[in-house]
Amino acid sequence: AAPVITIDGPSGTGKGTIAGLLAAHLGWHLLDSGALYRTLALAARRRDVDLDAGPELGRLAAQVRVQLEGERVRLDGEDVSAAIRTAEAGVDASRVAVHPDVRAALLGWQRDAAVAPGLVADGRDMGSRVFPDALLKIYLDASPEERAQRRYKQLKDKGMDANLRDLVQELRVRDQRDRERSESPLQVPIAGIVVDSTSKSIDEVFLQVRDLAEA
Ligand code: C5P
Repeated sequence: AAPVITIDGPSGTGKGTIAGLLAAHLGWHLLDSGALYRTLALAARRRDVDLDAGPELGRLAAQVRVQLEGERVRLDGEDVSAAIRTAEAGVDASRVAVHPDVRAALLGWQRDAAVAPGLVADGRDMGSRVFPDALLKIYLDASPEERAQRRYKQLKDKGMDANLRDLVQELRVRDQRDRERSESPLQVPIAGIVVDSTSKSIDEVFLQVRDLAEA
């Protein structure tokens, strides 16, 4: 099997950025597992599937075709990269992600990404459930205030509408749902290494993670 490095943690810790930098540095593939949950939630919205109906969502996952090509995400061929990046899509994703049927359906999609020369996988349960035998398991954390600030800046930079207070609130709702769900809750995986990115630059965090990857 191809080597895997997992990067888990709550949203707004810079996980996606760090995972992308590390994958580029190593010349490995990148898996943004959150994009899969976001895309499934979007598909459910569009087809009027109830976001709280687990078995139906599981069936939907078997029907749609989702492709990750770098930053681009396709749903049945359509580019949905922008549509899945809204704050609402993030909250929707955390709603569909509580269902065991959904998580089981997406397990295969995620494991299929572990091909040579290697994979950097970014998510909530990459180290704890999807790739328990990973070479290295990082858990990236940061204070809630800092995470909301970062998300705010990210959205503004993209020219998207954002309100800091709403972002803090959405983050709380998502964090709570991610940590308290019974199925693959957000947690530090066994043998995981916690890296706190609060008041560190992207470069500092990347160097720390790179050193761990090359140790
Ligand atoms: O990482 P991102 O913000 O794109 O994830 C959106 C939501 O998808 C998370 O809040 C979480 O509920 C869910 N998710 C998950 N497991 C993953 C990745 C994302 O449950 N591996």
